[in-house]
Amino acid sequence: RSEKQILRVPMIRLTELKLPLDHTEDALPALIKRTLGIQPDQLRGHTVYKRSYDARKQKLLLVYIADVEVASADLQATLLAKFSNNPHIRPAPDQTYHLVTTARQAPALRPVVVGFGPCGIFAALLLAQMGLNPIVLERGKKVRERTKDTWGLWRKGVLNPESNVQFGEGGAGTFSDGKLWSQIKDPRFLGRKVMTEFVKAGAPDEILLVSKPHIGTFKLVKVVENMREQIIAMGGEIRFEHRLSDVLIEDGQLRSLSVQNLADGTSYELRTDHMVLAPGHSARDTFAMLHERGVYMEAKPFSVGFRIEHPQGLIDRARLGQHAGHPLLGAADYKLVHHAGNGRSVYSFCMCPGGTVVAATSEEGRVVTNGMSQYSRNERNANAGIVVGITPADYPGGPLAGIAFQRALESHAFTLGGGTYEAPGQLVGDFVAGRASTQLGSVEPSYKPGVLMTDLGGALPDYAITAMREALPVFGKKIRGFDMFDAVLTGVETRTSSPLRITRGDDFQSINVKGLYPAGEGASYAGGILSAGVDGIEVAEALALSMTGNKGGA
Ligand code: FAD
Repeated sequence: RSEKQILRVPMIRLTELKLPLDHTEDALPALIKRTLGIQPDQLRGHTVYKRSYDARKQKLLLVYIADVEVASADLQATLLAKFSNNPHIRPAPDQTYHLVTTARQAPALRPVVVGFGPCGIFAALLLAQMGLNPIVLERGKKVRERTKDTWGLWRKGVLNPESNVQFGEGGAGTFSDGKLWSQIKDPRFLGRKVMTEFVKAGAPDEILLVSKPHIGTFKLVKVVENMREQIIAMGGEIRFEHRLSDVLIEDGQLRSLSVQNLADGTSYELRTDHMVLAPGHSARDTFAMLHERGVYMEAKPFSVGFRIEHPQGLIDRARLGQHAGHPLLGAADYKLVHHAGNGRSVYSFCMCPGGTVVAATSEEGRVVTNGMSQYSRNERNANAGIVVGITPADYPGGPLAGIAFQRALESHAFTLGGGTYEAPGQLVGDFVAGRASTQLGSVEPSYKPGVLMTDLGGALPDYAITAMREALPVFGKKIRGFDMFDAVLTGVETRTSSPLRITRGDDFQSINVKGLYPAGEGASYAGGILSAGVDGIEVAEALALSMTGNKGGA
């Protein structure tokens, strides 16, 4: 379907339209007419822009934002004037995306995008839409082959360091819950562009509608494949199993790249003076190489912790009460934060309702946890990271020190888990009491290849363990049962965000290397699928404007 069909430009936007959970279909148009004070024949149509729910009160309510077409432009103007002081009745914004430039002819030196995660996908898509024929370098494999390798770790304990949860087509978000919301400021509605492109590529229309959309792993795989085909059809080229291994910088300008073809073991030089660098937060070798070449980067705060698993039913009952299990509400999520007495913040991270905990390492001899789910979110457990904020003061030693810190925790977790890629685990009750767990209780952990029950007390620095021991009972007061004895902790959760920033200027280029556009989560300009996609768009725009010279095109 065309963008126009998906994204019509409506006229009046009504917000805070509240209706009971089981309302009839005609209740919403009736409420719109009542709110605007118009006759039945004056409402030409309406589209639900967003649907969320308000579970704070005893009675759970659905809350709509609707875009409304009325009978005539005159009536629209009259209504907008009449309600000019009402913040819930405004002109609907035009969210149509317009390309900032287009190339008149294909460039002699093509732009390169490193990484085909959400950031690289959107950067490449936009560059292709603007006629700039990008070349994408992706160290991992196509998504279907990658899936086999990823499951190789989960099912057989065999890791492929170049093809796993972090590396390969679709990037880190492919085996995920596919949550598609973000708290970034988005005055240009670029998030809508991202969602619209996902829907064009086969994602369910519903993601444009619900307030906290998610797409789940299997659907995301198909979407990623379709976007790859679109990019190729528009003149882009995607080289899988091709890793950026070096850069040539002359007088502060990027000149060319060294690329390793991992499939046949050869290397080659790729001339370019425009590169989007979107390698994600796990490209540790790439960060080290760029640091060695003098690209400016700095250490930044991130978080470390464990995954926690509860029965999803427990979370549903605590969050939705009598409405637990209602199909319109789906599996309930949560968001928690506690400021501990020792000054550390403990918070829930990447919560996956009805999902599984996954082995997310990209390096041999290390264990890392994360979470994913399918679109249906119907697995038995809810999981989330429970993580503690840390800063470069906790790992002094320059831009790469955070990586060394992560590696030490991940290697220790591997040892604690028995050296077989099983995750070390502990019951919440035992963890809070400070004694080792020897067996599971009523909650069966989902992490594969398996969980070895032990003592996680030494798996993180003391300040983090102390803060988490304080936070879990507090969370139990916010969500009844959250600190249940048998809830399972597994660890370690270290890849929460990038431990460094590759700093860029207002022109989106590295502050000391022209032509290098650091982007996405690895460079610390995004944190999640949606924000990585938005950043990919903005970086592609800046790069295209630089290549084409002006807004009018090359
Ligand atoms: P990435 O997605 O990490 O992509 C980077 C790509 O670059 C990778 O494919 C990698 O192979 C490639 N690469 C790295 N180095 C090189 C090199 N030298 N040469 C060539 N290619 C290279 N976010 C959400 O918003 N919602 C979720 O539900 C969610 N769940 C998640 C679940 C899991 C298990 C994980 C691991 C992450 C999850 N995230 C989620 C986070 C989200 O995936 C990331 O924020 C997002 O993918 C970052 O996008 P990116 O394009 O910047 O980097």
